[in-house]
Amino acid sequence: METIFNYMEKYDYENLFLCQDKSLDFKAVIAIHDTTLGPATGGCRMWQYDSEMDAIEDALRLASGMTYKYAAAGVNLGGGKAVIIGDPYRKDREPIFRALGKFINRLGGKYITGEDVGTTLKDMEYIRMETEHVVTLPTYLGGAGDIAPMTAFGVIRAMQACCKRVYGFDSVEGKTVTVQGLGAVGHNVVEQLHERGAKMVVTDIDPDKVDAMVEKYGVDKLDPESIYDVDCDIFCPCALGAIISDETLERLKCKIICGSANNQLKEERHGDLLEQKGMVYAPDYIANAGGTIYDTDRLGVGGVSHERGKEKVSRIYENMERVFEIADRDKIPTYLAADRMAEERIREIAEVKKYIDELKP
Ligand code: NAD
Repeated sequence: METIFNYMEKYDYENLFLCQDKSLDFKAVIAIHDTTLGPATGGCRMWQYDSEMDAIEDALRLASGMTYKYAAAGVNLGGGKAVIIGDPYRKDREPIFRALGKFINRLGGKYITGEDVGTTLKDMEYIRMETEHVVTLPTYLGGAGDIAPMTAFGVIRAMQACCKRVYGFDSVEGKTVTVQGLGAVGHNVVEQLHERGAKMVVTDIDPDKVDAMVEKYGVDKLDPESIYDVDCDIFCPCALGAIISDETLERLKCKIICGSANNQLKEERHGDLLEQKGMVYAPDYIANAGGTIYDTDRLGVGGVSHERGKEKVSRIYENMERVFEIADRDKIPTYLAADRMAEERIREIAEVKKYIDELKP
């Protein structure tokens, strides 16, 4: 990374906050990328970084990812992220998460945090003791609770839009789907695909999770290494990032790639390569936005409504259609079309806001 200010200038970051409390051995970074659409929102990661600069870079990179995710999802939130530098298994969690909550509260709602890698719902409860600017809370604290089923529902809606593009109709019934990873999202994907009449081949490094799905839904199973070789309609990655690579593209025989895993393309060029191979790719941050759409839907509208939240998640179908429109219009791959869709929305809303500001006396 060049100097911090150069980097912030280049990618249009608004703020970077460094927080520390030596009595607690607490160090955190809060990055705010863009608040054109609303308060910067994004989870709090806890990780043992090799250096402070690595932590800052991670917070900045993840914050801009959230700007794109919310913008493309049609949500009125901006992008931000917090990272706590430290062992994610650290035991004394209440003081450090309350310390973070205090810092977040001082920002007066400019940044809203939530759960991420290395943090838990319980940690969010500690943050909630100090500030109301936190999502991913249990239902008994007014939050949406477990959001993985909604992430899975969003993945299915993206899949349906991909099926429409490839097969001319949007049903997944009778389609063969390989599901990689049967964790919080993956097992919900299997359940929802089963309800819709899809055929499935599943895998996980945990054989108990695989056997549970085989027993419950009668799906086929494969070992984790062989999943890329299945002749199928849809490959649904719900485990790891960077699974679309030179090596897997040689092997994948699907028509559609659509799953919840973050950062699926090992490198951007793999997004070009898969299009050249005639595959349709649902950009990860479009397909996996369901949980966060559902989770944040309650903000500013007086609480969680399952019906309203689900309806908003369902619109991932239309978001995917718009991605395809932009891809066709500009003759670009879908992963770039998604970015363009997000950038266009931010630009348009910035114009509207400017116009409204000009009307103010
Ligand atoms: P999880 O940890 O609950 O599940 C991941 C599963 O993948 C585990 O069962 C694990 O055993 C399995 N796995 C790990 N390595 C594997 C391999 N090599 N082959 C096959 N299986 C393997 O995680 P999750 O919450 O279900 O999230 C899955 C992915 O979706 C992650 O990339 C996550 O960042 C992303 N995501 C999740 C949500 C959400 O709502 N939970 C939202 C957006 C994105």
